Amino acid sequence: MKELTDESILHLGHMISASEHICLISHMHPDGDAAGSCIGLALFMKEILDRKDVSILTSDRFPGYLSFLTDSQISGNIIFHEEECERAEDAVRKADLIICLDFNSFARAGSLENIIAESRARKILIDHHLNPDTEKFCLVFSETEISSTSELVYHILKRLLPEGKRLNMSSAAALMTGMTTDTNNFANSVFPSTLRMASELIETGVDRDMIIGNLYNRFTENRIRLQGYLLYENLKITDNGIAYMILDRETISRYAVTEGDTEGFVNIPLSIEKVKMSILAKEDTGKIRISIRSKKGVSANRCAAEHFNGGGHELAAGGRLAVPEDIGDISGLEAYILKITKDI
Ligand code: 5GP
Ligand code: MN
Repeated sequence: MKELTDESILHLGHMISASEHICLISHMHPDGDAAGSCIGLALFMKEILDRKDVSILTSDRFPGYLSFLTDSQISGNIIFHEEECERAEDAVRKADLIICLDFNSFARAGSLENIIAESRARKILIDHHLNPDTEKFCLVFSETEISSTSELVYHILKRLLPEGKRLNMSSAAALMTGMTTDTNNFANSVFPSTLRMASELIETGVDRDMIIGNLYNRFTENRIRLQGYLLYENLKITDNGIAYMILDRETISRYAVTEGDTEGFVNIPLSIEKVKMSILAKEDTGKIRISIRSKKGVSANRCAAEHFNGGGHELAAGGRLAVPEDIGDISGLEAYILKITKDI
């Protein structure tokens, strides 16, 4: 990762201490990195920097598998716009500082997009995605050669720590969680700085066994049965190494799949030697949501940007097709995937 400059850290420190009402906002359909980076930063601002009014906002709720993080002393500060519209909008209206974490353009904030755009608060971006909308922010921490936004927040917090203070354990655990989920438990996007972070956090006393137990050993039976169905009956692989799984509404309701239950499935086909890109499609209301993963040499980001109105990282990206504007319905998706991937 690039060196964080003294100037940017000073600027950030000044903006935080000069602000009364602070909103941390992350992307729609938040994942472990969205939650971990927001919660880690919020707890640091409350416990170390003594900021009293810090809210965390996303358009929709954090997935259930993160309840060990979200049901903590910070739970009262978390607001989901789709569930508590007025409270969320009041918090943004009142804010004198908005920090956007783990997304690169306001559109990724879902229902919060216009509210952020219209706010006159000062805005800071802390993110690790490609192509950030930097001109919308007065201070930008954008780093793509890093595991996660949680890792970036960790390096920033180390520099923000007042003399003689240690990082608080609750922030440390949240940041370890976000880094762990975004690297798929150290399988992808691991840099020397990532291992340094992990090592320092374990040294500090972060209970990694507790985090791993919560993230990977608390699945529902339905999730594992759905995984079995997808891999055994649903997965298709083309001759040119494109794997795809299409999860329609009927299957989603048969397995009672909730948000977060399909986390990680898209990675599994990449373990097959001939597979160079894997696509998971999920039918949703008025849209089909797409997750893409690829091996080095094939760009998941390009596929998401060119064919699915999305983006992300070079090897891990996502997007969506609007129904019926982009595609008639899910029955046409297989032909669409075959068409767009035939020359990869
Ligand atoms: P996932 O497949 O885990 O949902 O997302 C993989 C990566 O792609 C994440 O970094 C995520 O932020 C990004 N991503 C997912 N969906 C979208 C989307 O609709 N638009 C953009 N620009 N990025 C997305
Ligand atoms: Mn992330």
